[in-house]
Amino acid sequence: MKPVLSQVCVYCASSNQVDQKYFEAAQRLGDELASNGITLIYGGGSSGLMGKIADRVLSRGGKVIGIIPDFMKKVEWAHQGITELHIVGDMHARKKRFLDGTDALVALPGGCGTLEELLEAITLKRLGLFNKPIILLNTGGFYNPLLSMLKRCVDEKFMNADSADMWSVVSAPEEVIPAILNAPLWHENAIERASLK
Ligand code: AMP
Repeated sequence: MKPVLSQVCVYCASSNQVDQKYFEAAQRLGDELASNGITLIYGGGSSGLMGKIADRVLSRGGKVIGIIPDFMKKVEWAHQGITELHIVGDMHARKKRFLDGTDALVALPGGCGTLEELLEAITLKRLGLFNKPIILLNTGGFYNPLLSMLKRCVDEKFMNADSADMWSVVSAPEEVIPAILNAPLWHENAIERASLK
């Protein structure tokens, strides 16, 4: 059965100083979400790739839900024009909200915040606590070093051989929605396979 696709959570950079190719990819993914009627869930910021994708979805008539911790709103990091801005108590509550309602998760390039959010989602999926598709948009090969590290984890038996089924890697924004729809189903009983004995 194909997954329902009404909301997609996107993790991405807050930096404004990254190469233009990353902004272009964020914009193109925004087009894909808006033209398919998919709501963007994201960190609620106005800067970097976060701001770019939110602005693009909005400009194409799409819906954007931002989830931001109170302390970030206080320092005025929140995007002022999105459809809904949800204020949460802290970073942990924010990450939980990202995953609670979403039909899939997409990671664009980013810094430690994006990497941490992505690795937490993979960790939860490994334990069977999150079972939605996780897509890495590997613009310019940005994620190749992380993918090598994860492969090493598998090769050296820190993780199960089927771990790579937890995520899909695409190189163009237009491949993201097809990758979500075709992502391998993840086991209901993942917890029973999570530990290598
Ligand atoms: P990074 O990939 O390191 O830029 O981190 C992205 C994540 O960092 C976001 O999801 C937020 O948790 C946080 N973050 C860092 N800077 C900002 C900002 N200016 N506005 C909103 N969130 C931010």
